[in-house]
Amino acid sequence: MRAVDIIVKKRDGKELSREEIEFFIEGYVNGEIPDYQAAAWAMAVLLNGMNDRETTDLTIAMVRTGESLDLSDVVSVAVDKHSTGGVGDKTTLVVEPVVASCGLPVGKMSGRGLGFSGGTLDKMESIPGYRTDLTTKEFLSQLGELGLVLTGQTCDMTPADGMLYSLRDVTGTVQSIPLIASSIMSKKIASGAQAIVLDVKVGVGAFMQNIDDARELSELMVSIARLAGSKAVALLSDMNQPLGQAVGNAIELKEAILTLHGDGPVDFVEHCLVVASHMLKLGGIAKNEEMGYQLAKETLSNGKAWKKFVDLVRAQGGDTRYIETVGKLPKAKIIQAVSAPWSGYISEINARIIGETCVLIGAGREKKSDEIDHSVGVEIYNNVGDYIEKGQDLFTVHASNLRDFQIANENILSAYHYWEGPVDPLPLFYGVVE
Ligand code: URA
Repeated sequence: MRAVDIIVKKRDGKELSREEIEFFIEGYVNGEIPDYQAAAWAMAVLLNGMNDRETTDLTIAMVRTGESLDLSDVVSVAVDKHSTGGVGDKTTLVVEPVVASCGLPVGKMSGRGLGFSGGTLDKMESIPGYRTDLTTKEFLSQLGELGLVLTGQTCDMTPADGMLYSLRDVTGTVQSIPLIASSIMSKKIASGAQAIVLDVKVGVGAFMQNIDDARELSELMVSIARLAGSKAVALLSDMNQPLGQAVGNAIELKEAILTLHGDGPVDFVEHCLVVASHMLKLGGIAKNEEMGYQLAKETLSNGKAWKKFVDLVRAQGGDTRYIETVGKLPKAKIIQAVSAPWSGYISEINARIIGETCVLIGAGREKKSDEIDHSVGVEIYNNVGDYIEKGQDLFTVHASNLRDFQIANENILSAYHYWEGPVDPLPLFYGVVE
């Protein structure tokens, strides 16, 4: 078999066999197939697609390039969640302790920010000492003892995804449904989750810009999970406007902490409770979503979820004083509110502009080697549909210097559109794929 023939076959829109997919993925990971051939192949997949059988074979081939965890020795059922990436999406920080405090173990390997979308690990690293590099042994023992782990992926797992992901990031091949589905599901399968809730973001601030694509991706991922012997459900959730108020690492962590104390923004709390309700149902703790929702809600009001979060931070070496007194978290030099230059009903708060602006002022990376500034970001005070009076605070910029403040001020204002008459609020969810 030759790599070039496989590229040509996909370039010409033909179906690849399982053997061809395995040959290509193994060859790439072993260094026998160079980056330029893998990039050409990824572009051919992006342009011509893959059918469900090819995507499933690709996922399994990627899983086989590395280590896979078997959690059954440690817990009877472990549930996981995965967001396809969005702006202000700090759901994991709240939902994982909520679900774990209901008695359902959660072992999660998260990622870093990617382009305009934030990353859970970057947010957690706002806490001095917090380790995101647990070994497999540490992962398993913490999952057994605490029932909650939130770390990065070990290098031994799905190396094919690590390699392909960085390649796709710089070759314009991220936005491919089969490549996204195999990337996400290979990680989930390798990390041993028996039940997975997929939070598939849709909108201008997401990789999937329309409901049809989001539904196709969801159906594909749910069917891959089923073939791999796991249960999965996908929620299609809005990412046209940021989720919650905070966008930026330390300020998102602070918002998650407030939420765990029962004091989070209404849209974000609701989003978390719905995601948690599906996890609790899938993991067999709740008979139905309504019960799961109530259980999850109780853990926010009785302090159990907060306690679990503190235990998690402590177990992974984080200095808990920084979460107990949020004033200690990294703080930007300039924290300044910006008021509305108009009156009207908000018709758009473009999540992508907000995400890209936060990257620009240091909250995310433009190159893989960039250091991020945990302190910077923006707080957005309203949602689409809200009425704003001229002069009312619209948002607050957290910036490290005046120039960044000015850039953020100008860009974020351009993310808003308003209308004279009433505007309908955006839904939080567009549907569920089971
Ligand atoms: N998240 C992933 O893990 N992989 C993708 O390809 C896109 C989002």
